Amino acid sequence: MSLNNLADLFHDELRDILSAERQLIEAIPKMAKMAASDELKDAFEKHLEQTIVQATRVEQAFLDTGMPARAKTCEAMKGLIKEASSMMEEKAAPEVMDAALIACAQKVEHYEIATYGTLCTWAKLLGYTEALELLKLNLNEEEETDEALSVIAETVNSEAQA
Ligand code: FE
Ligand code: FE
Ligand code: FE
Repeated sequence: MSLNNLADLFHDELRDILSAERQLIEAIPKMAKMAASDELKDAFEKHLEQTIVQATRVEQAFLDTGMPARAKTCEAMKGLIKEASSMMEEKAAPEVMDAALIACAQKVEHYEIATYGTLCTWAKLLGYTEALELLKLNLNEEEETDEALSVIAETVNSEAQA
């Protein structure tokens, strides 16, 4: 596809985040299963539920573009998930593994925050008001998740120091 204007680029980026969210629907349950801390496990499970809804919101956001909701493989998310998977194969003390899982998860959230931030800016410029509202909801959830992980990390990291 050729990118002739910002609308084309917006559509391309929506396809990327749709792929990212769909990859995460597969990956988060594995991270939840690996988490030793109940608090961390709950946070992953809660975010899995949000992620399922987020993918649906992204699909709805395509309506404003008039173009099909077809994902395009997000290579960055593939890489972040690959890193998390190889970390999960390491032999590690449970608290240390939890600290590692949080680090991997926060990288994912930051990627999503960057992407949704850009998408919101473009949606606003393009006058895609419905897409903007949907994308803002996703952005807020990613930010809240990142903050919640930082709070859990305080306990987990100090336990991992021992
Ligand atoms: Fe997400
Ligand atoms: Fe991407
Ligand atoms: Fe997320």
